[in-house]
Amino acid sequence: DAVVYWMRMQDMRVQDNRALSQASSEAVQLGIPLIALFILSPQDYIAHDRSARRVDFTLRNLTCIKQSLGSKHIPLHVVTHSPRKTLPERVLSILKSWNAVRLFANIEHEVDELRRDIRVFELAKTEGMVQCNFVHDKCIIVPGTVRTKEGKGYTVYSPFLRAWLPHLTDHPDPLACAADVQPNQVSVHDHHVFGRLFNTSVPDRIEGFELIDEDADTMRECFPAGEDAAHDVLRRFLHTKARSSQAGAVSPLSSGVIEAKDSSRDSRIGKYKDMRDRVDLDSTSRLSPYLAAGVISSRACVRATMELSKNKAQKIDASRETGIGRWVQELAWRDFYTHVLALFPRVSMGRPFQEKFANVSWETNEEHLQAWKEGRTGVPIVDAGMRQANKMGWMHNRVRMITAMYLVKDLMIDWRLGEKYYMETLIDGDLASNNGGWQWSASTGVDPVPYFRIFNPYTQSKKADPTGDYIRYFVPELSKVFGDDIHNPPAKLAQKLGYPLPFVRHDEARQRAIRRYKNPGDE
Ligand code: FAD
Repeated sequence: DAVVYWMRMQDMRVQDNRALSQASSEAVQLGIPLIALFILSPQDYIAHDRSARRVDFTLRNLTCIKQSLGSKHIPLHVVTHSPRKTLPERVLSILKSWNAVRLFANIEHEVDELRRDIRVFELAKTEGMVQCNFVHDKCIIVPGTVRTKEGKGYTVYSPFLRAWLPHLTDHPDPLACAADVQPNQVSVHDHHVFGRLFNTSVPDRIEGFELIDEDADTMRECFPAGEDAAHDVLRRFLHTKARSSQAGAVSPLSSGVIEAKDSSRDSRIGKYKDMRDRVDLDSTSRLSPYLAAGVISSRACVRATMELSKNKAQKIDASRETGIGRWVQELAWRDFYTHVLALFPRVSMGRPFQEKFANVSWETNEEHLQAWKEGRTGVPIVDAGMRQANKMGWMHNRVRMITAMYLVKDLMIDWRLGEKYYMETLIDGDLASNNGGWQWSASTGVDPVPYFRIFNPYTQSKKADPTGDYIRYFVPELSKVFGDDIHNPPAKLAQKLGYPLPFVRHDEARQRAIRRYKNPGDE
């Protein structure tokens, strides 16, 4: 007999992992071994626009997890399966071959994944052999726990935040993985099966998702795998000072070399309230790849901020006035969008949350879309942002907003095409946050920017990159341009430097967007 923990792409950690913790306690209590299972499903990755970078990050993390679980005597068995439709049957047959009596997994809130798990549950029930336990662990607060007075899910962030904050002290302690006693549970027969499982290896690539060598090296440098790396990235954000420039291109691990004297003030988190929108500084944590893949839990992040503010009462600092408070509020955005996805699944089906904008008429312009993707729109901050995405698989939040808004409102191209490109390109692609961010920018989502408040990319550029260092770094054609010209180079200068001219004039494009949003269906 065995207890099985089924790990997925969003909970790739051993520490503070609810399903793993419960599975291990159960195994100890029943006196039977615990086996971890991971199923690679390339067809799902295609269907969900998973980037090769995210798939590669998954494999790299799996290698680390295999080692950490191994040190606890828990084998990790990795299989690749297709077609995706028969994955539930495959899970059941694996469970049978191990005589599994219990299955534990953390819930994934996306529609396809929920359907898959329901099928596994039904099959297991019919067979009557395995008891399935799907538990919540992605968010700090289980989706559905906080609701409006009318009992509905929140669709506005501020009241959600107010309802969310009091729950932060619910899980102060890390969830332990208690299976160190594993060898005692393994019978002679099981030793044979176990030996085989311990010897299976993690593939180093998946067909169709290979990275070219240069990209693979960049990803390894920028986002090293494993829980130790994730905790180190967090520690640097909490305890070290920001580098002054060109931060976008370096690994979060090479940043933050100078220790801050007073972490709650001088560190990157201490300065977060004032600096977070500066794309030319190393102003944010860059933990998103780790949070998206669950290499670190958001609970662990909150806990670390509690320790930083030396808050013995374990009350969280969530004030708008401190860096720590502002950062915790960003973690709340992550929860907010996951709650929205769980409670309003239509957002994950390519539909706008606000149905009234379902018929806005979009431009079909392949040339503009392609130029946007490649960072050749002639608007420097947009091009720098897109080139950062293409080069390092990650973008600062402010440039995600600027580039998204530019695609949707200035070029008037359907937000779903931008959403898809981000998923295909970024290492931190997460359906809930990505969809939330795109529908915010497109004014179609929950609590979005109103459709008539359209970013002027040139003004945004001056605020977000006042030194111009960020643009000069990612757009080498402009590396010798200084002063205000860096944000909007005069046509003659741009032509001389071989930099493109913009496709649209912002003021005209703005009027067009307002007209089309006001009267969906109008050309
Ligand atoms: P920090 O500023 O250090 O914030 C800490 C953590 O809080 C982040 O790692 C992230 O997990 C969470 N967070 C911060 N801002 C947001 C936000 N606005 N929404 C949800 N969570 C947030 N984030 C993703 O993780 N995956 C995505 O696919 C994604 N797509 C986006 C698309 C668009 C159009 C926009 C506008 C935003 C998107 N975001 C996405 C949110 C945000 O841009 C990134 O989480 C953030 O830039 C990551 O950098 P960081 O880790 O340094 O963030």
